[in-house]
Amino acid sequence: MSDDTFDAIVVGAGPAGSACAYTLAKEGRSVLLLDRGNSAGAKNVSGGRLYTYALELVEPGLYERAPLQRKIVREQIMLMNDRGATTVDYFDPGFGEAVPQSYSVIRAALDEWFAGEAEAQGAMVAPGVVVDGLIEENGRIVGIRTGEDEMRADVVVAADGVNSLLGQKAGLFPDVKASAVGVGVKETIELPDELISARFGVKEGEGAARVAIGCTEGISGGGFLYTNKGSISLGIVFNPEQAGRQTRHIQDIFQDYKMHPAIHALIEGGTSVEYGAHLVPEKGYHGIPKQLSRDGFVVVGDAAQFGINTGLIIRGMDLAIVSGLAAAKAIIAAKQPADVGTLYRQQLEELLLIANQQAYQNFHGIFEISRIFREYPALANDAMQFLFRVDGKKPKPMLKGLLDIVKRNVSFGKLLGDGWKIYRHI
Ligand SMILES: Cc1cc2nc3c(=O)[nH]c(=O)nc-3n(C[C@H](O)[C@H](O)[C@H](O)COP(=O)(O)OP(=O)(O)OC[C@H]3O[C@@H](n4cnc5c(N)ncnc54)[C@H](O)[C@@H]3O)c2cc1C
Repeated sequence: MSDDTFDAIVVGAGPAGSACAYTLAKEGRSVLLLDRGNSAGAKNVSGGRLYTYALELVEPGLYERAPLQRKIVREQIMLMNDRGATTVDYFDPGFGEAVPQSYSVIRAALDEWFAGEAEAQGAMVAPGVVVDGLIEENGRIVGIRTGEDEMRADVVVAADGVNSLLGQKAGLFPDVKASAVGVGVKETIELPDELISARFGVKEGEGAARVAIGCTEGISGGGFLYTNKGSISLGIVFNPEQAGRQTRHIQDIFQDYKMHPAIHALIEGGTSVEYGAHLVPEKGYHGIPKQLSRDGFVVVGDAAQFGINTGLIIRGMDLAIVSGLAAAKAIIAAKQPADVGTLYRQQLEELLLIANQQAYQNFHGIFEISRIFREYPALANDAMQFLFRVDGKKPKPMLKGLLDIVKRNVSFGKLLGDGWKIYRHI
């Protein structure tokens, strides 16, 4: 490295960029971590559940220093319609034992902490810097441009998020397509911590994560809710193409979700302190670009479209951290910048990121079944109402009553067809 050239410039101080910068700096590499926000994480929106294993891969015990919120021990699935909600509640204290499986997180705090950890290891962290171009010489990327300024590095790491300008400038992939992403809206609502514990039936420090299906007016997507310390993160992710064809605005649909009696009872009395919207990669394994590197350049995290959404589990932050780690390991192991791409691929395999993506590779097809987002949640609620209603009238025989409810919501042909489609995609 010459005096004015960094070993690596990492663009974007989200989980991917900070994991990369942390690992490189810890190994004594000179690294510059840039972010356009006034502080790392200032512009980031996330529903906020982080799977802890990713931080453990970066460094065992690192999670204990992180500003994590509540360890998640309650997993809830809520099927909603206008009238009611059927909730499956899985309580597992084991998820909170030893190294707890996952925590709710507030992104602004998490990102600022992680960038600070990278700085403490020796990385140079510069917030408030918008990177708007790459420097290319003889087919190799050798640095970045920010306004009139140029900065040089052996390797540039694009950790600039889902709509990666740098990945596009490097010619690795085109502009992000609406069919490949979801658009998420999220609100943070402050409430007394003890009240949150009481409403969700958890002890202090423990928390609940809830996914909601049937709250999107039939648009492919779903709601989420996470309990933090002293606040609740509430949001919905929509398919933007379908949302664009709706007459109602997504903010209005989100308001209905908030005001649904089954949700409102949980957030009642709270104060809204943050509202934001952001894109999220939705195509899973099939959305990952074929090429993730060029000579002197690698793409990590959301920029590489890493993401898993099974409808029950949303994963992006853990994959961002693992890919940032993979890029750092590749840069450390490379004899020359041209080797980084191949080594990065190997690390993504070794750290099982690719295997995780492949395991859910066909899930996206399930979300093409439109009935999942309206008819089936309605069916579940109708069935529950039938099973639990006692009004003194003569009840229908149980089996006939249930079959009538199925018929009212969806034909048997469609039910069988959807069952077959789900079977083929999981
Ligand atoms: C509503 C919603 C809910 C979500 N819920 C979850 C969840 O519960 N669990 C989970 O694991 N994942 C969740 N995700 C996904 C998760 O947020 C992402 O996968 C994760 O943030 C990706 O991290 P990253 O570091 O790759 O990118 P980002 O976190 O997007 O960070 C990119 C950084 O790059 C910076 N940047 C961008 N362009 C430039 C530029 N030109 N110059 C300088 N800086 C730049 C940005 O300011 C930003 O700080 C959710 C996403 C959304 C939208």
